[in-house]
Amino acid sequence: MEQWTIGKLLTWMNGYLTDKGVDAPRLSAELLLSHVLNCKRIELYTDFDRPVEAARLEQLRALVKRCAEHEPVAYLVGRCEFYSLEIRVNRSCLIPRPETELLVERAIDWLRRRPQPASVLDLCTGSGCIAVAVAKNVPECCVIATDLSDQTLSIADENVKAHGLGEHVRLLCGDLFDPLAGLDEKSFDLIVANPPYVTSAEMETLDRNVKDYEPTPALHGGVDGLDVYRRIADQVGPFLKANGALMLEIGYTQGPAVRALLEATALFAEVTVEKDHASHDRIVTANRQTA
Ligand code: GLN
Repeated sequence: MEQWTIGKLLTWMNGYLTDKGVDAPRLSAELLLSHVLNCKRIELYTDFDRPVEAARLEQLRALVKRCAEHEPVAYLVGRCEFYSLEIRVNRSCLIPRPETELLVERAIDWLRRRPQPASVLDLCTGSGCIAVAVAKNVPECCVIATDLSDQTLSIADENVKAHGLGEHVRLLCGDLFDPLAGLDEKSFDLIVANPPYVTSAEMETLDRNVKDYEPTPALHGGVDGLDVYRRIADQVGPFLKANGALMLEIGYTQGPAVRALLEATALFAEVTVEKDHASHDRIVTANRQTA
């Protein structure tokens, strides 16, 4: 019988996933195999000739089959990397995207220029990736993160605990600012959000791995993708300190519209739109006072 080694498995998976039109087939193959073998990706390369036992092959085969159906690898292995941190994910939350790392970077820069402890509110937290990455990098700050879905908050809770941030990140269930109603202190230095922003028309054109597997409520922002931004703009005033800032991730066509929405509130001295690494408008920052 043929002996399956790590090297042979990677070659086979790469070919198979390539034939099935899966994105990043080699990386996907490595992530699935290292998950099944419970090792680091790099260790696959130092162990190329290691035979893989039947039980693991069985497990791998099942995952490769789902991967070939375009189920995202992050869901298959239950985690992904975000801002150099391991973030657990499941199908109740969006898989953190590299674009969102830029929002985290800006939030961290902004907070480091502030007296601590600063207070941060993360709306539509999903996996909790933004809240966790910010709290991990600005350990003095206090973060409150809200999400509509209980199920989603339970994965966020796993992430908060896994990173030892139970004292720094508080998770509350409800729509946007609603869960803050009962709190004593409800105005924040920084409010961040990556709300759903995909338009109805774009929802139809999303890749299979997104459309068929990721939660629609985390993606779909209404006909023009701006529903949640409108509600944030309407409600944000009382929750933002006089020298506070609002930072939002946006879809790449939404810069002018989100800027206009925020300017129309007359709350902000300065609204800027910043591009991501692909030169797409991606982050809107609205400061109540100029720096
Ligand atoms: N960036 C995500 C996508 O491309 C959308 C994230 C969001 O709607 N907040 O699918």
